Amino acid sequence: MITNTRGPKMFMQLRKTDDKSVLEKALSHFDGFHVGASLLSSLGVFVQDVGKPFFIDPMTYRFILPPEHIIDREKGTVPRWMRYLAKTYSPILEHSLGKKTLTANDLNATRGGIQELTCNTLEYERTRFDTSEPALINKYFDKYDAFEEIGDSIAHNIQGTRPSFVIPPFFLVEEVGDPWYRLNLICSRIAAEQKKPEELLYGVLFLRKEILLNSECVDIVRDYADRRLAGIALWVNGLSEESANTEILSNLIRLIDGFRSIGKVVLKLNGSYLSILMNHNGLSGFSCSLSYRSDRDVNVSKWIIPGPPKAKFYIPGLHQAYSLDETEHVLRMFPFLKCSCRVCRDSYGNDLDIFQLEMKKVGYCQNHFLNARKAELDGFAQRGISGAIEDINEVLYCLKKKNAKGARHLTKWLNLMKAVQSVGTGIELPAKVNELESASIRHG
Ligand SMILES: [Zn+2]
Repeated sequence: MITNTRGPKMFMQLRKTDDKSVLEKALSHFDGFHVGASLLSSLGVFVQDVGKPFFIDPMTYRFILPPEHIIDREKGTVPRWMRYLAKTYSPILEHSLGKKTLTANDLNATRGGIQELTCNTLEYERTRFDTSEPALINKYFDKYDAFEEIGDSIAHNIQGTRPSFVIPPFFLVEEVGDPWYRLNLICSRIAAEQKKPEELLYGVLFLRKEILLNSECVDIVRDYADRRLAGIALWVNGLSEESANTEILSNLIRLIDGFRSIGKVVLKLNGSYLSILMNHNGLSGFSCSLSYRSDRDVNVSKWIIPGPPKAKFYIPGLHQAYSLDETEHVLRMFPFLKCSCRVCRDSYGNDLDIFQLEMKKVGYCQNHFLNARKAELDGFAQRGISGAIEDINEVLYCLKKKNAKGARHLTKWLNLMKAVQSVGTGIELPAKVNELESASIRHG
């Protein structure tokens, strides 16, 4: 279970096979895995062998995309993992896969259909890594301290077979109260009925970011107040924590705080440094990938992005990643932003002439990022929000001394944290918390 005592927990997403070689050297730098149902089986074996906590994203939202977003443009076929999952989850998904865009009505046509989808999804998550052969020897056990160790890491178990919590099937919500919103609530209610006594169940909110421009946070919190939900997994589609406007981010914080006020653990899917700061407002944890980005968008398919991703360097003082060109330029202008983690020390050191050459090497930027992120997490755990604000103020002061513009995201975060600290979030909930049954009645 995620606790809130030492700063937020960070769950790493595995996207490609290269991620394994980076993460296996930094096992003490993160708390667990966010496993997408599309994960390659070789990476699944890695997650299982490592034995850290994990949860499974069933990726049901992918099945309601238009066929042109589902069919691989190069191969002209539906990816094998989707065919397998459709067969596992529901005949409704299987019959429409790659042929038509599913509506909420299609899924909700019969109570039996949505019940079957929910039960099969939970069972898939429970058994994804379940094995009859217990791993008595954990080959990663002695690797936990091999990287640059700073502070403690979460205890790992020797048999990483069961998820820390299960989540119901979920779909992208366009508006609060829309058919997908209601369907997500129905899936949550069915999952709560099907939950095993020893199991933790999280509800999922997968929201279009514009929803956060409206003041409907209280309604959402009430709808997901069911006591059988131990927590909430929150994903705001395409939301960049760096570039989103202040109103959206303020309402995101209100939403998180609202859930905290009724005792729910909140985990944000796809977070960046702001997610660490939001631990102050009740965010218990977040997941992120080695792309360092928080703006994952379900409507952007991987084959639409042209060319291989270019190496990016996460500048710790700015809490954001930049291209190697930009980074070199910034570090030459502002030497106080140089990183002194082990990867940086042992590669380019103080010689910026070889910075790009060194950091282009496979895994270097990512290993540096994990060191920088661990320092951010430990710093927050030790000094809290006031320490983080102090550090951002210091960076902004040093930038200002040189009349430098930019780093607007830092100013925004700073103002956001100060505003939220002084005003409070203003969410008031009735003393008696409604269960999902009453919420679904209200929404018809
Ligand atoms: Zn570094």
